[in-house]
Parts: sequence; structure tokens; C-alpha cells
Amino acid sequence: MTNRKITVAYGDGIGPEIMQATLDILEAAGAALDLDVIEIGEKVYQQGVTTGIKPSAWESLRQSKVFFKAPITTPQGGGFKSLNVTTRKTLGLFANVRPCRVYPPYISTLHPKMDVVIIRENEEDLYAGIEHQQTDEVVQCLKLISRPGSEKIIRFAFEYARAYNRKKVTCFTKDNIMKMSDGLFHKIFDEIGEEYPEIEKDHKIIDIASAILADKPETLDVIVTLNLYGDIVSDIAAQIAGSVGLGGSANIGEGCAMFEAIHGSAPDIAGMGIANPSGLINAAAMMLVHIDQPQIAEKVTNAWLKTIEDGIHTGDIYKEGQSKSKVGTKEFSQAVIDRIDSKPQHLIGAQFKKLDKDKLFKAPKKVKKTKKLVGVDVFIHWDEPGRNPNVLGEKLKECCTASLPLKIINNRGVKVYPDGHSETFCSDHWRCRYIASESSAIDHKQVIELLDQIQAAGFDFIKTEQLYTFDGARGYSLAQGE
Ligand code: NAD
Repeated sequence: MTNRKITVAYGDGIGPEIMQATLDILEAAGAALDLDVIEIGEKVYQQGVTTGIKPSAWESLRQSKVFFKAPITTPQGGGFKSLNVTTRKTLGLFANVRPCRVYPPYISTLHPKMDVVIIRENEEDLYAGIEHQQTDEVVQCLKLISRPGSEKIIRFAFEYARAYNRKKVTCFTKDNIMKMSDGLFHKIFDEIGEEYPEIEKDHKIIDIASAILADKPETLDVIVTLNLYGDIVSDIAAQIAGSVGLGGSANIGEGCAMFEAIHGSAPDIAGMGIANPSGLINAAAMMLVHIDQPQIAEKVTNAWLKTIEDGIHTGDIYKEGQSKSKVGTKEFSQAVIDRIDSKPQHLIGAQFKKLDKDKLFKAPKKVKKTKKLVGVDVFIHWDEPGRNPNVLGEKLKECCTASLPLKIINNRGVKVYPDGHSETFCSDHWRCRYIASESSAIDHKQVIELLDQIQAAGFDFIKTEQLYTFDGARGYSLAQGE
């Protein structure tokens, strides 16, 4: 077997301890690797690099296309960017795969039948990181959901389920509230699901879905969801499976991939030699499958399972009367190395499948619709004493053009003019909707004329959103009460 180049980062906090422990196991198992070590995280941030990664490190990643990464510490505030989010987005790692299985009776869990895989969209949603302060009182964060992005992750989830002979894929969204963005994700789930008739499909609203995941995880199988929900529910799943210290995650893209533990750099126990390296070991096994060394992955996982079965446990999973010995990071990895040719006797052994790249990265469906401009939402920063919506409404009515009359004003999504309720709290951020009458077509020129009038009347417009129809269907949500 020829050595495969991978880029390795030892990370911060417990990172160096668990990375060394894992690399020792990989070497003992005979993994054919050529390591290119890069520096990322705290030290790089301290040198003033706000992304936490230097340009030379990108070069290594571009060449190896495989990143094996220990956790890092993200500095709070100060304009520093999360290196994890940057890496995922820069390298196009759209799929985050987190298997959460349990190991009863060797590791305590309330859910001995749980075996869930969470497949989380990794690039879009609120994690696009597009935020603006628009008024004294209001900031916004844009939630972006694209058709190609949703298609890619949903197809990935079904292909994963098919390859691993999983029976059900459940989609988690909040499309009862976010009918357009989460609604698109749900719609695409239904569309792509049809291509997988042998797999059961289900959709759940994220709030009850999370409750079910925490209470009856054995009723769930593969879960596919948007970025933010996936971030939250995957930590819940890992924790109830036994410990956040056990889970590994794969971040997969068309060209590159990144493998890491799901937990952070655990500064509270850094340097103490007690961290559990299992999350990184499980991530390493997924990496070995990805680089076509599945036999080594099985060897590593089976040795690890045997160590767990033999009751050799780090402090986070150690239980008096159940575990046999409480060990530190180094002793744990030595125990795995000692069992490198062993198989577990009771726990189900490792079974890895390579996903079919051609099916996984199918070109997304091209959709071209007839787009028609029908109006504009003008957002205004207005803070006159009393903040009376009727005063604002009457003034703005004067500003409208014949082709674009003022229809409604709302505040934080609730209609306040005309016929608002006096009880509704109003911030200094107002959305004023101007819509053309049915028959008249408008163009951007009329929007600009309208904005000219609004400005001439002394109003501070902070942004506009054009209102379109696509093939005649409304491409914008109605305000509550509209
Ligand atoms: P954390 O996961 O680091 O720690 C949470 C708790 O779990 C701590 O009590 C810790 O001691 C324990 N723990 C975590 N991993 C363990 C292990 N392997 N063995 C034993 N115990 C373990 O989460 P946090 O405290 O919220 O974050 C600490 C830092 O890590 C922050 O700077 C955060 O930004 C960063 N972080 C990095 C990543 C990453 O690099 N992928 C992910 C999450 C958080």
C-alpha cells in the first residue's frame, strides 16, 4: 500500500494529547499515511491572523485534500472567525456526518437501542454569517437556503442510508414557521426521497423532533437536517449516547474532506493527560475508509471496541462497578494498540461502506422560472416619539408612486398599519410593503423613483427586498396579519 498524504493539525487544549494518542494507534494498525503537519488555532490567531489558518496551510490542504484535525479554541470576540466554519465553507465540505451509536452495557446510557446517524448541511443556513446592524435596536442574520445545497445534502443522506442498509431517513425542519426556506428543504426531501422507494421517509418539526431524539432515539435512524438544527441535535445525540468524548465526525465535499472529534478543545482538562481520545479515533476510522484503507479502519475500530468491552475507560465514561480500570489518554491508546488484532466479543464490530461518488455528487436539478417584479419591501429606520404606526403610514402614503402604492407596514413581521393593534410592541425597524396592482408590470426604475421620494421626505431607508413572483407563484412571505 502506498502512503497517502494527509494534512494533520494538533489543535489546542486537549488537541495535542488526543491527536498523538490517535496517530500512535493508526501507526500500530499499519495505516499507510504521509503526515503533513500544519499549525492552526490559538497560536495563529494570536499572530493576528483572524481566520486562525495561514495561507501556507491552505496549500497543504489543497494538495492532500484530506484534513485530520484536532479541536481548536476559538477566541471570543475581537473579530476572529471560527476556523471550523471557514474550513468547511472554503473547501466546500457540504455534508457533516455524525454517527451516534451506543455501547451497552459497557458505557452507561439510558437508550441501549439507539443507533442514529445525523447528516447535517454544513455550508448554508444562518451559518452563512451574513449579519448587519440596521437600526439602533435591530440586527439581522440572513438565513440562506439554496436548492442545489439542499439537493446535495439530502441526496447524500439517502445514499448513505442505502449504502449502510439503513431503513429510514427523517428530515427535521421548522417549515410550519419558515415556510419558504425550511419549506424548500422539506420539498426537496420529498422530491429526492422518491428516488429511494425502499427507504422509509419521515418529516418532523424540529422542536418535537429534538424531544423525540432525547427521549426515544431508538425510533430514529438516519436524520437529515439544516445547519443550525443539525449542530444542536448532533450534540444532544452524542451526549445521550454516552459522552461527547466518543463521537467522531466527517465533513465531506466533492474534492476534499475533513475528519475531527465532535467535541471542543476542553481547556478545563488540557494538559492533564485524562482526555478521552475516542472521538478522534472514531473520526480517524471514517478517514481511513475515505482514503481507501477500510481494512485498517476496521482493525482500529475493532481494537477500540474490544478496549471498551474490556472495561478500560477514561474518566468521562468510567463507572464504578461497571468499568474495570480508569486510565489516562496514553494508557487508553496503549490498550487499543495492545488489542490491534482483536475483535469485540459482544458489541457489533466495525462495518464500513464506501459511498458511490458518482451517485453522491449528481449535478443538481436546473430550475429556470419566469421571474416577475411585483413590488418592494422598503425597510425604514424610524424613531419618532410615540412610534405611532398610523403617523408613519400616513406620511409614507404620500411618498408612494401611482404604480407602487403602499399596502402594509409591519414591525418585526407583524402588521401594524393599516388597522394594527395598539398592544403590538414596535421597534425602530419598519418594513413598508409597496405592491403593484395586478395588471401593471414594474421594473427597477419604479423602485428607484419610489426610493427617491422616500428619501426626499426625510426617511432613512436601510434596505430593500424586491418582491417577485416565479411562474406566477408568490416568492415572498405574507406578514403576520396581512
Ligand atoms: P468542549 O467540548 O471542549 O467541552 C465540554 C465539556 O466536555 C468539558 O467539560 C470537557 O472537559 C468535556 N470534554 C470534551 N471533550 C472531552 C474528551 N475528549 N474527554 C473528556 N472530556 C471531554 O466544549 P466547550 O467547553 O464549549 O468549548 C471549548 C473550546 O472548544 C471553545 O473555544 C470552542 O470554541 C472550541 N470548540 C472547538 C470545536 C472544534 O474545533 N471542532 C468544536 C466545539 C468547540
